[in-house]
Amino acid sequence: MAPETPGTETQALSNLLQENRRFAPPANLAAAANVTAAAYDEAAADRLAFWERAADRLTWAKRWDTTLEWNAPFSKWFVGGQLNVAYNCVDHHVEAGNGDKVAYFWEGEPGDSRTLTYADLQCEVNKAANALTELGVGQGDRVAIYMPMIPELPISMLACARIGAIHSVVFGGFSASALQSRIEDADAKLVITADGGYRRGNPSALKPTVDEAVANTPSIQHVLVVKRTNQEIAVNERDVFWDDIVERQSDQHVAEPHDAEHPLYILYTSGTTGKPKGILHTTGGYLTQTAWTHHAVFDLKPDSDIYWCTADIGWVTGHSYIVYGPLANGATSVIYEGTPDTPHRGRFWELVQKYKITILYTAPTAIRTFMKWGDDIPAKYDMSSLRILGSVGEPINPEAYVWYREHIGHDRCPVVDTWWQTETGAIMISPLPGVTSGKPGAAMKPLPGIVADVVDDQGNSVPNGGGGFLVVKEPWPSMLRTIWGDDQRYIDTYWSRFDGMYFPGDGAKKDEDGDLWLLGRVDDVMLVSGHNISTTEVESALVSHPKVAEAAVVGATDPVTGQAIVSFVILRGTAEESDDIATDLRNHVAKTLGPIAKPRQILVVPELPKTRSGKIMRRLLRDVAENRSVGDVTTLADSTVMNLISEKLPSAKSED
Ligand code: ATP
Ligand code: MG
Repeated sequence: MAPETPGTETQALSNLLQENRRFAPPANLAAAANVTAAAYDEAAADRLAFWERAADRLTWAKRWDTTLEWNAPFSKWFVGGQLNVAYNCVDHHVEAGNGDKVAYFWEGEPGDSRTLTYADLQCEVNKAANALTELGVGQGDRVAIYMPMIPELPISMLACARIGAIHSVVFGGFSASALQSRIEDADAKLVITADGGYRRGNPSALKPTVDEAVANTPSIQHVLVVKRTNQEIAVNERDVFWDDIVERQSDQHVAEPHDAEHPLYILYTSGTTGKPKGILHTTGGYLTQTAWTHHAVFDLKPDSDIYWCTADIGWVTGHSYIVYGPLANGATSVIYEGTPDTPHRGRFWELVQKYKITILYTAPTAIRTFMKWGDDIPAKYDMSSLRILGSVGEPINPEAYVWYREHIGHDRCPVVDTWWQTETGAIMISPLPGVTSGKPGAAMKPLPGIVADVVDDQGNSVPNGGGGFLVVKEPWPSMLRTIWGDDQRYIDTYWSRFDGMYFPGDGAKKDEDGDLWLLGRVDDVMLVSGHNISTTEVESALVSHPKVAEAAVVGATDPVTGQAIVSFVILRGTAEESDDIATDLRNHVAKTLGPIAKPRQILVVPELPKTRSGKIMRRLLRDVAENRSVGDVTTLADSTVMNLISEKLPSAKSED
C-alpha cells in the first residue's frame, strides 16, 4: 500500500460505505442447522480441541499423536496420524451402505449426462489408481491434470490421492506455455488430459496444447488421454488412451493410508497479481477443514441436499468444494461442463430446475453477468428447491447480493459470502446460514476455529468502524504448507509484512458491530488526498446505480490529489449510454460515499479485463488510466478486451 501522506490521520483504509439492510436466517433452517452459535464458544474455549472434533468426522487408519506442531511459519497438523483421502471420499460411503447414493450428476454442455453413484465412483477410482501404478506413478510423484469438466477429472484426482501421488490440476483454458511452466515447476511425470471438451457449443481441443507443452518437458513419461469429443488428434509415442489402459484394470484396489502431512496437491494461484505460486496442500488438515466447512457453511444434509458449485475444478474452489469437501461428507453434487450461456442464457436455472438443486455456490462475476442479462431470465424457471446461496472469488457488491437473494433465492435463501483463497485451502470467513443475520456485502465473522483480524500498518488491531489489513493470527488445518520448492518465497509473501501473522494481501474493515467486510487487494488501494480508499467500496457504489451492471476502479496519478479515481463501467442490458451518464455516476458515488470518493473519470466499456477465473485485473486498467502501454496480459481470459478498453480512453469524460 502507498505510504501515508504526512500530517494526515493514520487510517489504513477508509470506511465509507454504510449498509443497513439485514437478513435473519429462516426459522426452519436455524432450527435444524448443522452448526449453531455454540460452535463459536466451543472453538474459542479450546481451538485445537475444536479442530480435533472436526478431524474425528473423518476415518483415520491411525489416529494422530500431536494435533499441531507450529514452527512458525511452518505448520504440521495431526502429526503421526494416517488416512487415505480417497477412502474417506469414496469407499467409506460404500462401506456404510450408501453405494447406491449419487455422488455426481454430471451434465455435459451439449445436454448429455451421466450419473455416478458412490459405488460407481469407487470402481472408476480403483481402476484409474491401478492404471497410474501400471504407468509407473507412485507415492510422491507429480501428475499434471489438464482436463475439461468431465467425471474423469475428479476420478483422476482421487486416483492420485489414493496412491499418494501429488496432483497439479491446471485449468483447461490455460495456454501451452502456462501448462509447460507448471509441469516444469512441479517436475511432473504424467499428464492426464482429454482430446477436448465442449465450450460455447463447440468441441474445444485440449490435446494439441498438451502436445505443444510436453514437447519441451522431458520429465513427462506419458500422456493419458480421455476421449470426450472424439475430435481428430495427433497421437504420439508416449500417449496412452484412457479407454485402453484404465478400462481393462481391476476395479479392486487397496487404499494404503498416508501420513497426515503427506502432500495431496499443488495448485497454482490464478495469477491476478503476478507470477503464479505453486501452493502446496497436504492430507489430514486439508480434508478436515474442507469437510467441516462444507458441512457448516452450506449446512449440507447428505440425505436430502443436491449441491452445485459452479466453479471449474481447475481452481481451488473446485478442488475443495466440488471434490474433497462434498465427497468427504457424502454429498450429492452436480457438475456442469460448459458455460452459463450455452445454448441459452437460462442454462444455470434450467439445471437448478432439472436437478432440484438446493445449494448453489457461485461467484460475484457470474451474479453480475446474470444481473446484466436481466431478471426475466431466471424468472422463467422453478427455483423453489433452492435453500442456500453461496458466493466466492471477489467481494460481493451489496447490490449483487440483494439481486441474488431476490431473483435467485426468492428472499427465502440466506446468502453466504465466503472469503478464502488458494492458500487457505478452505473457507475462513463466512456467515453460518442458520446462525448469522446477513448483511449484504459482508463476509461477517471468522468461522469457529479461525482467528482473523483487521490491523493497521503497525499490526495493531483496528477498532470497530476502522479499516486496514486482513490477517490470520493462528495457524489453521488447511493452510498452505509452503510454496512448492520455495520456502523463502512462502515466508516473504505471506509472513514478512506483519510479525507472526499471516497476511493474505487483502484489505478489510470492521463495522460498528465488529463484522468483517472485505475491501479488495491492498495492492489496488487508492490514495486520494491522503485517504486510502478501497476499490471495492467505490465499485459497490457504482453497481448500486440502476444503470450499472459491473464496475472496476483504479487510482491514477494526479497532480492535485496524488491519485485520482478512474472508473470503468459496464451498463446493464437495458441502460443506454447517454451524455450525462458520467456526471450522473460521479454524483451518485459522491452522494453514496462522500465527495472524497468521487471519480475523476468514468469510462463506459463493453468488457472488463478478467482472469480465467473471472476476477477483474485492475493492474491492467491502471496502465490504461495512466496512459502506459498495457503490462503482462498472459493471465487474461481474453487479451483483446484491453484493445476495446484502450479505444475508449480518448472519449473519457473528466469534469470539474
Ligand atoms: P493470485 O494470488 O495469483 O493473484 P488470486 O488471488 O486471484 O491469484 P485465488 O486464490 O483464487 O487467486 O483468489 C483468492 C482471492 O480472491 C482472495 O485473496 C481475495 O482477494 C479474493 N476473494 C475470494 N473470495 C472472496 C470474498 N468472498 N470476498 C472478497 N474477496 C474474495
Ligand atoms: Mg491471491
